[in-house]
Amino acid sequence: GATIGMLGAGQLGRMTALAAAQLGYKTHVYAPDAAGSPAAQVCAAATVAGWDDLDALERFARSVDTVTLEWENVPVATVEHLRRFTTVNPGPNVLSVAQDRINEKSFVNALGIATAPWRPAASADDVARAVAEIGPRCVLKSTRMGYDGKGQARIGAGSDPAEAWATIGAPASDDAGGGTAGGIVEGFVTFACEVSVIVVRGGDGAMAAYPAVENRHKDGILDVTVAPAKIAPETATEAERVARRIAEALDLVGVLAVELFVTPEGGVLVNEMAPRPHNSGHWTMDACASSQFEQLVRAVCGLPLGSVERVADAEMVNLIGDDAARWPELMAEPGARLHLYGKAEARPGRKMGHVTRLFPRG
Ligand code: ATP
Ligand code: MG
Ligand code: MG
Repeated sequence: GATIGMLGAGQLGRMTALAAAQLGYKTHVYAPDAAGSPAAQVCAAATVAGWDDLDALERFARSVDTVTLEWENVPVATVEHLRRFTTVNPGPNVLSVAQDRINEKSFVNALGIATAPWRPAASADDVARAVAEIGPRCVLKSTRMGYDGKGQARIGAGSDPAEAWATIGAPASDDAGGGTAGGIVEGFVTFACEVSVIVVRGGDGAMAAYPAVENRHKDGILDVTVAPAKIAPETATEAERVARRIAEALDLVGVLAVELFVTPEGGVLVNEMAPRPHNSGHWTMDACASSQFEQLVRAVCGLPLGSVERVADAEMVNLIGDDAARWPELMAEPGARLHLYGKAEARPGRKMGHVTRLFPRG
């Protein structure tokens, strides 16, 4: 069978490798931190010096049939080098948009799709100016490398812009190389709820989208996903339209997750996107004909896309840090679909696994 190259070695790579194996594919992981990683436990992995080891990258590219990724912050230069020897999807154009919140919001707005109001910020003065223009309630984010709410500072009526600027440590955030280090100030959205839509797109332009799901966060980390989201049908349709439009405009091959805020009026604002399987799509493993991971394999291997049909409604709960110690109880719960990622150390805030519960389709 063919071999898929996977950039990144976390749980998303692991679950993709498991889906690939089911379809008869091998997976070969390339990541600086591969040894003992969630993905390396289920497939072959090269533990390498870094993303910039050109010889190791060439050897890797020549040992696989195509390359995909489970982490959108792989340096664009790495992907460009790999592309001299093999196909890589999603490609560098998609990554350069998704790696930088300013690029991301500019791209989305250029399609006529709404986001919260935003301004770039390269200094504390910029932050103050942005707040004066947008309004007193804002969120300052580092443009690159943030996840699970890291690299963010809330700004309220009494906040000091300089303090917020110091908190995000923006000037140091450019460790992936390429692009400008800095921040972005976004207007704070008083949302009714948060949703996401996961779209899969093949090399032939075929597309499929899972229904919009609701995401609830705790301490900046995804806690619960409810599938499908209990929102007005028009809101769900609009969220799906927006996600498909973005995937198409990116000429994406693979899987794209688009996170959106639902306004109290039922409109949607794009928050961010990730061109890979997404935590809010884990429910598809247990409740859909084809999971988001299988869809990624299908898309990057030139296979027909699978069905996004939902055979059940679902609720997914993340197991963060010590939550994972509950596994014996969850294991004993009839019908609870437990997924553990094989991480040895349950550090606070670390995603250790998840559990999905199914319900009759509403
Ligand atoms: P992820 O782990 O999803 O990649 P992230 O660190 O990249 O997260 P965001 O998704 O931008 O960051 O923000 C994390 C959470 O903070 C959001 O899901 C939302 O709950 C809240 N948030 C972010 N931006 C705003 C905003 N402009 N207005 C209100 N809440 C916001
Ligand atoms: Mg993010
Ligand atoms: Mg997010």
